[in-house]
Amino acid sequence: MLTSKISEIVTPSTQSCFDQAFAELVRELNAEVGDGGYYRGLVARAPFLLKATRVEPVGIFLKVRCLPGCRVADAWQEMVSAQYPEAGIKVERDESYIYLWIDDPCRLSSAVMVKLVGEFFEVHANGFPSIDGYCYVCTKGESGVLRQSAGSIATICPNCMAAREHQKISEERAANSSSVGYLAYFPFGVLIGGVVWGGFWTLYDAAFLWANTDRLIFPMVAVWLVIFLFGMAIGWPLGRILFNSGIARKISPMAIVVLAMVLVIPFGELLYSAWLIYWASGYFDLGLAARAIIPFAVENGMQIALYKLMFALAAGGVMFETIRQKVVRLRL
Ligand SMILES: [Zn+2]
Repeated sequence: MLTSKISEIVTPSTQSCFDQAFAELVRELNAEVGDGGYYRGLVARAPFLLKATRVEPVGIFLKVRCLPGCRVADAWQEMVSAQYPEAGIKVERDESYIYLWIDDPCRLSSAVMVKLVGEFFEVHANGFPSIDGYCYVCTKGESGVLRQSAGSIATICPNCMAAREHQKISEERAANSSSVGYLAYFPFGVLIGGVVWGGFWTLYDAAFLWANTDRLIFPMVAVWLVIFLFGMAIGWPLGRILFNSGIARKISPMAIVVLAMVLVIPFGELLYSAWLIYWASGYFDLGLAARAIIPFAVENGMQIALYKLMFALAAGGVMFETIRQKVVRLRL
Protein backbone atom coordinates (compact mmCIF):
# COMPACT_ATOMS: atom_id res chain seq x y z
CA MET A 1 0.00 0.00 0.00
CA LEU A 2 2.68 2.43 1.09
CA THR A 3 4.97 1.29 -1.70
CA SER A 4 2.31 2.01 -4.32
CA LYS A 5 1.70 5.41 -2.73
CA ILE A 6 5.38 6.25 -2.92
CA SER A 7 5.65 5.12 -6.51
CA GLU A 8 2.71 7.37 -7.41
CA ILE A 9 4.63 10.33 -6.09
CA VAL A 10 8.08 9.42 -7.32
CA THR A 11 8.09 7.71 -10.69
CA PRO A 12 10.84 5.11 -11.14
CA SER A 13 13.05 7.35 -13.31
CA THR A 14 12.89 10.38 -10.99
CA GLN A 15 13.36 8.09 -8.01
CA SER A 16 16.61 6.78 -9.38
CA CYS A 17 17.86 10.30 -10.14
CA PHE A 18 16.74 11.39 -6.67
CA ASP A 19 18.57 8.45 -5.07
CA GLN A 20 21.66 9.15 -7.14
CA ALA A 21 21.69 12.79 -6.09
CA PHE A 22 21.27 11.83 -2.45
CA ALA A 23 23.96 9.15 -2.58
CA GLU A 24 26.31 11.67 -4.20
CA LEU A 25 25.70 14.14 -1.36
CA VAL A 26 26.24 11.47 1.31
CA ARG A 27 29.54 10.57 -0.34
CA GLU A 28 30.72 14.15 -0.86
CA LEU A 29 29.89 15.18 2.71
CA ASN A 30 31.49 12.00 4.03
CA ALA A 31 28.32 11.40 6.06
CA GLU A 32 27.84 8.33 8.26
CA VAL A 33 24.56 6.54 8.99
CA GLY A 34 22.92 8.19 12.01
CA ASP A 35 19.75 7.51 14.01
CA GLY A 36 16.17 8.07 12.88
CA GLY A 37 16.86 7.78 9.14
CA TYR A 38 19.42 10.61 9.19
CA TYR A 39 22.93 10.67 7.89
CA ARG A 40 25.29 12.79 9.98
CA GLY A 41 28.74 14.24 9.91
CA LEU A 42 30.98 17.29 10.11
CA VAL A 43 31.93 19.63 7.29
CA ALA A 44 34.22 22.58 7.95
CA ARG A 45 33.76 21.81 11.68
CA ALA A 46 29.98 22.21 11.40
CA PRO A 47 27.83 19.26 12.58
CA PHE A 48 25.02 18.39 10.16
CA LEU A 49 22.14 15.98 9.61
CA LEU A 50 21.05 14.94 6.15
CA LYS A 51 17.84 13.14 5.22
CA ALA A 52 15.98 12.14 2.06
CA THR A 53 12.20 12.11 2.40
CA ARG A 54 10.52 9.93 -0.18
CA VAL A 55 6.89 10.56 0.75
CA GLU A 56 5.25 13.96 0.36
CA PRO A 57 6.87 16.41 0.72
CA VAL A 58 9.61 14.70 -1.33
CA GLY A 59 13.01 16.29 -1.07
CA ILE A 60 16.45 16.41 0.47
CA PHE A 61 16.79 17.99 3.88
CA LEU A 62 20.02 19.31 5.34
CA LYS A 63 20.19 20.64 8.88
CA VAL A 64 23.39 22.36 10.00
CA ARG A 65 24.17 23.34 13.58
CA CYS A 66 25.27 26.93 13.97
CA LEU A 67 26.13 29.32 16.76
CA PRO A 68 23.26 30.85 18.73
CA GLY A 69 21.25 33.16 16.49
CA CYS A 70 22.55 31.63 13.23
CA ARG A 71 23.26 35.02 11.72
CA VAL A 72 24.96 33.57 8.65
CA ALA A 73 21.59 32.17 7.56
CA ASP A 74 20.63 35.49 5.99
CA ALA A 75 23.68 35.33 3.73
CA TRP A 76 22.69 31.77 2.73
CA GLN A 77 19.18 32.80 1.97
CA GLU A 78 20.25 35.56 -0.42
CA MET A 79 22.79 33.37 -2.16
CA VAL A 80 20.36 30.52 -2.75
CA SER A 81 17.28 32.33 -3.95
CA ALA A 82 19.40 34.25 -6.47
CA GLN A 83 21.28 31.27 -7.88
CA TYR A 84 19.05 28.19 -7.78
CA PRO A 85 15.42 29.19 -8.19
CA GLU A 86 14.56 26.10 -10.28
CA ALA A 87 14.97 23.33 -7.71
CA GLY A 88 12.56 24.68 -5.08
CA ILE A 89 15.33 25.43 -2.60
CA LYS A 90 14.38 26.94 0.72
CA VAL A 91 16.55 28.13 3.58
CA GLU A 92 15.18 28.55 7.06
CA ARG A 93 16.72 28.99 10.47
CA ASP A 94 15.96 28.96 14.15
CA GLU A 95 18.17 29.71 17.16
CA SER A 96 20.43 26.68 16.68
CA TYR A 97 20.13 25.41 13.11
CA ILE A 98 20.09 26.42 9.51
CA TYR A 99 17.86 24.27 7.32
CA LEU A 100 18.29 23.70 3.63
CA TRP A 101 15.46 22.06 1.75
CA ILE A 102 15.84 20.90 -1.87
CA ASP A 103 12.42 20.03 -3.35
CA ASP A 104 13.64 18.58 -6.58
CA PRO A 105 17.29 17.52 -6.61
CA CYS A 106 16.73 16.02 -10.09
CA ARG A 107 16.65 19.53 -11.53
CA LEU A 108 20.22 20.12 -10.47
CA SER A 109 23.16 18.10 -11.74
CA SER A 110 24.92 16.33 -8.88
CA ALA A 111 27.95 18.53 -9.53
CA VAL A 112 25.83 21.67 -9.09
CA MET A 113 24.19 20.33 -5.96
CA VAL A 114 27.48 19.34 -4.37
CA LYS A 115 28.84 22.80 -5.23
CA LEU A 116 25.76 24.46 -3.70
CA VAL A 117 26.08 22.52 -0.46
CA GLY A 118 29.83 23.18 -0.40
CA GLU A 119 29.17 26.92 -0.70
CA PHE A 120 26.70 26.63 2.16
CA PHE A 121 29.30 25.18 4.44
CA GLU A 122 31.81 27.81 3.33
CA VAL A 123 29.44 30.63 4.30
CA HIS A 124 28.76 28.85 7.55
CA ALA A 125 32.50 28.50 8.32
CA ASN A 126 32.87 32.29 8.00
CA GLY A 127 30.73 32.80 11.09
CA PHE A 128 32.19 29.90 13.05
CA PRO A 129 35.15 29.83 15.47
CA SER A 130 38.17 28.38 13.70
CA ILE A 131 38.99 25.80 16.35
CA ASP A 132 38.68 22.07 16.05
CA GLY A 133 36.47 20.12 18.45
CA TYR A 134 34.32 23.12 19.38
CA CYS A 135 31.93 22.29 22.24
CA TYR A 136 28.47 23.82 21.72
CA VAL A 137 27.80 23.78 25.46
CA CYS A 138 30.90 25.28 27.11
CA THR A 139 32.17 26.91 23.85
CA LYS A 140 35.69 25.58 24.47
CA GLY A 141 37.66 23.86 21.74
CA GLU A 142 39.63 20.69 21.11
CA SER A 143 37.67 17.89 22.74
CA GLY A 144 34.19 18.22 21.18
CA VAL A 145 32.90 14.95 19.69
CA LEU A 146 29.98 14.57 17.26
CA ARG A 147 26.79 13.55 19.10
CA GLN A 148 23.25 13.00 17.83
CA SER A 149 20.01 12.77 19.81
CA ALA A 150 16.99 12.24 17.53
CA GLY A 151 16.88 15.36 15.30
CA SER A 152 19.60 17.22 17.26
CA ILE A 153 23.27 17.24 16.36
CA ALA A 154 26.26 18.94 17.98
CA THR A 155 29.89 18.53 18.90
CA ILE A 156 30.15 18.29 22.68
CA CYS A 157 33.12 17.72 25.01
CA PRO A 158 33.07 14.68 27.35
CA ASN A 159 32.53 16.83 30.48
CA CYS A 160 29.49 18.64 29.08
CA MET A 161 28.17 15.35 27.66
CA ALA A 162 28.36 13.71 31.09
CA ALA A 163 26.52 16.69 32.62
CA ARG A 164 23.79 16.48 29.95
CA GLU A 165 23.38 12.74 30.48
CA HIS A 166 23.15 13.27 34.22
CA GLN A 167 20.49 15.94 33.66
CA LYS A 168 18.53 13.60 31.39
CA ILE A 169 18.59 10.84 34.03
CA SER A 170 17.36 13.14 36.81
CA GLU A 171 14.64 14.66 34.60
CA GLU A 172 13.53 11.15 33.64
CA ARG A 173 13.49 10.10 37.28
CA ALA A 174 11.35 13.14 38.20
CA ALA A 175 8.98 12.52 35.28
CA ASN A 176 8.52 8.87 36.30
CA SER A 177 8.37 9.32 40.07
CA SER A 178 5.81 6.98 41.57
CA SER A 179 4.23 5.87 44.81
CA VAL A 180 2.63 2.49 45.33
CA GLY A 181 -0.04 4.21 47.47
CA TYR A 182 -1.76 5.35 44.26
CA LEU A 183 -2.95 1.74 43.81
CA ALA A 184 -5.58 2.55 46.45
CA TYR A 185 -7.26 4.74 43.82
CA PHE A 186 -7.46 1.89 41.32
CA PRO A 187 -11.02 0.82 42.34
CA PHE A 188 -12.12 4.43 41.74
CA GLY A 189 -10.52 4.30 38.30
CA VAL A 190 -12.45 1.11 37.51
CA LEU A 191 -15.61 2.77 38.86
CA ILE A 192 -15.13 5.86 36.65
CA GLY A 193 -14.38 3.62 33.65
CA GLY A 194 -17.48 1.51 34.33
CA VAL A 195 -19.73 4.55 34.74
CA VAL A 196 -18.43 6.04 31.49
CA TRP A 197 -18.91 2.72 29.69
CA GLY A 198 -22.43 2.20 31.07
CA GLY A 199 -23.11 5.89 30.41
CA PHE A 200 -22.27 5.46 26.74
CA TRP A 201 -24.78 2.63 26.28
CA THR A 202 -27.43 4.60 28.16
CA LEU A 203 -26.87 7.57 25.84
CA TYR A 204 -26.84 5.22 22.87
CA ASP A 205 -30.31 3.94 23.81
CA ALA A 206 -31.50 7.45 24.62
CA ALA A 207 -30.51 8.64 21.12
CA PHE A 208 -32.72 5.95 19.51
CA LEU A 209 -35.59 6.65 21.89
CA TRP A 210 -35.31 10.38 21.28
CA ALA A 211 -35.18 9.95 17.49
CA ASN A 212 -38.04 7.43 17.78
CA THR A 213 -36.41 5.03 15.34
CA ASP A 214 -34.38 1.82 15.37
CA ARG A 215 -31.97 3.04 12.74
CA LEU A 216 -29.80 6.13 13.14
CA ILE A 217 -27.17 7.11 10.59
CA PHE A 218 -24.12 9.00 11.80
CA PRO A 219 -21.13 10.00 9.70
CA MET A 220 -18.21 7.65 10.41
CA VAL A 221 -16.05 10.58 11.55
CA ALA A 222 -18.58 11.44 14.27
CA VAL A 223 -18.70 7.79 15.41
CA TRP A 224 -14.91 7.70 15.64
CA LEU A 225 -14.83 10.98 17.54
CA VAL A 226 -17.37 9.74 20.11
CA ILE A 227 -15.49 6.45 20.45
CA PHE A 228 -12.23 8.28 21.00
CA LEU A 229 -13.70 10.73 23.55
CA PHE A 230 -15.33 7.98 25.59
CA GLY A 231 -12.21 5.83 25.24
CA MET A 232 -10.18 8.71 26.60
CA ALA A 233 -12.58 9.23 29.51
CA ILE A 234 -12.13 5.54 30.40
CA GLY A 235 -8.44 5.06 29.66
CA TRP A 236 -6.97 8.33 30.93
CA PRO A 237 -7.98 8.27 34.64
CA LEU A 238 -7.09 4.58 34.92
CA GLY A 239 -3.80 5.17 33.12
CA ARG A 240 -2.87 8.14 35.34
CA ILE A 241 -3.55 6.19 38.54
CA LEU A 242 -1.50 3.23 37.38
CA PHE A 243 1.29 5.44 36.01
CA ASN A 244 1.59 7.26 39.35
CA SER A 245 1.64 3.93 41.20
CA GLY A 246 4.70 2.85 39.20
CA ILE A 247 3.24 -0.61 38.59
CA ALA A 248 3.63 -0.36 34.81
CA ARG A 249 7.40 -0.20 35.33
CA LYS A 250 7.30 -3.50 37.24
CA ILE A 251 4.93 -5.62 35.18
CA SER A 252 4.06 -5.58 31.49
CA PRO A 253 2.04 -2.44 30.56
CA MET A 254 0.13 -4.52 28.00
CA ALA A 255 -0.94 -7.04 30.67
CA ILE A 256 -2.15 -4.17 32.88
CA VAL A 257 -4.18 -2.66 30.04
CA VAL A 258 -5.80 -6.00 29.20
CA LEU A 259 -6.59 -6.65 32.88
CA ALA A 260 -8.11 -3.16 33.31
CA MET A 261 -10.29 -3.60 30.21
CA VAL A 262 -11.42 -7.03 31.42
CA LEU A 263 -12.53 -5.37 34.68
CA VAL A 264 -14.03 -2.17 33.28
CA ILE A 265 -16.04 -3.52 30.34
CA PRO A 266 -18.16 -6.12 32.23
CA PHE A 267 -18.47 -3.69 35.16
CA GLY A 268 -19.81 -0.96 32.87
CA GLU A 269 -22.27 -3.41 31.33
CA LEU A 270 -23.36 -4.54 34.79
CA LEU A 271 -24.11 -0.92 35.70
CA TYR A 272 -25.91 -0.39 32.43
CA SER A 273 -28.05 -3.46 32.81
CA ALA A 274 -28.79 -2.59 36.48
CA TRP A 275 -29.95 0.82 35.25
CA LEU A 276 -32.21 -0.77 32.61
CA ILE A 277 -33.76 -3.03 35.23
CA TYR A 278 -34.24 -0.10 37.59
CA TRP A 279 -35.81 1.96 34.83
CA ALA A 280 -38.26 -0.83 33.92
CA SER A 281 -39.11 -2.11 37.42
CA GLY A 282 -38.13 0.56 39.93
CA TYR A 283 -35.85 -1.97 41.70
CA PHE A 284 -32.10 -1.90 41.88
CA ASP A 285 -31.09 -5.56 41.55
CA LEU A 286 -27.39 -6.22 40.84
CA GLY A 287 -27.88 -10.00 40.91
CA LEU A 288 -30.49 -9.88 38.16
CA ALA A 289 -28.34 -7.37 36.28
CA ALA A 290 -25.38 -9.79 36.44
CA ARG A 291 -27.53 -12.60 34.98
CA ALA A 292 -28.74 -10.27 32.23
CA ILE A 293 -25.25 -9.33 31.01
CA ILE A 294 -24.56 -12.52 29.06
CA PRO A 295 -27.73 -12.48 26.95
CA PHE A 296 -27.15 -8.74 26.46
CA ALA A 297 -23.64 -9.42 25.20
CA VAL A 298 -24.70 -12.34 22.99
CA GLU A 299 -27.93 -11.04 21.51
CA ASN A 300 -26.88 -7.65 20.30
CA GLY A 301 -25.21 -8.71 17.10
CA MET A 302 -22.09 -7.84 15.16
CA GLN A 303 -22.53 -4.07 15.02
CA ILE A 304 -22.55 -3.75 18.82
CA ALA A 305 -19.70 -6.23 19.17
CA LEU A 306 -17.70 -4.16 16.69
CA TYR A 307 -18.38 -0.95 18.64
CA LYS A 308 -17.29 -2.64 21.84
CA LEU A 309 -14.09 -3.78 20.22
CA MET A 310 -13.43 -0.25 18.90
CA PHE A 311 -14.05 1.21 22.38
CA ALA A 312 -11.81 -1.34 24.02
CA LEU A 313 -9.07 -0.47 21.51
CA ALA A 314 -9.53 3.30 21.99
CA ALA A 315 -9.67 3.11 25.80
CA GLY A 316 -6.85 0.55 25.95
CA GLY A 317 -4.74 2.60 23.51
CA VAL A 318 -5.15 5.81 25.53
CA MET A 319 -4.38 3.90 28.71
CA PHE A 320 -1.31 2.22 27.21
CA GLU A 321 0.09 5.60 26.13
CA THR A 322 -0.63 7.07 29.58
CA ILE A 323 1.03 4.35 31.67
CA ARG A 324 4.18 3.97 29.63
CA GLN A 325 7.45 5.12 31.13
CA LYS A 326 8.28 8.68 30.05
CA VAL A 327 11.50 9.05 28.12
CA VAL A 328 13.26 12.40 28.28
CA ARG A 329 15.23 13.21 25.18
CA LEU A 330 18.88 14.03 25.63
CA ARG A 331 19.26 17.74 24.90
CA LEU A 332 22.24 18.66 22.79
ZN1 LIG B 1 31.95 21.40 26.83
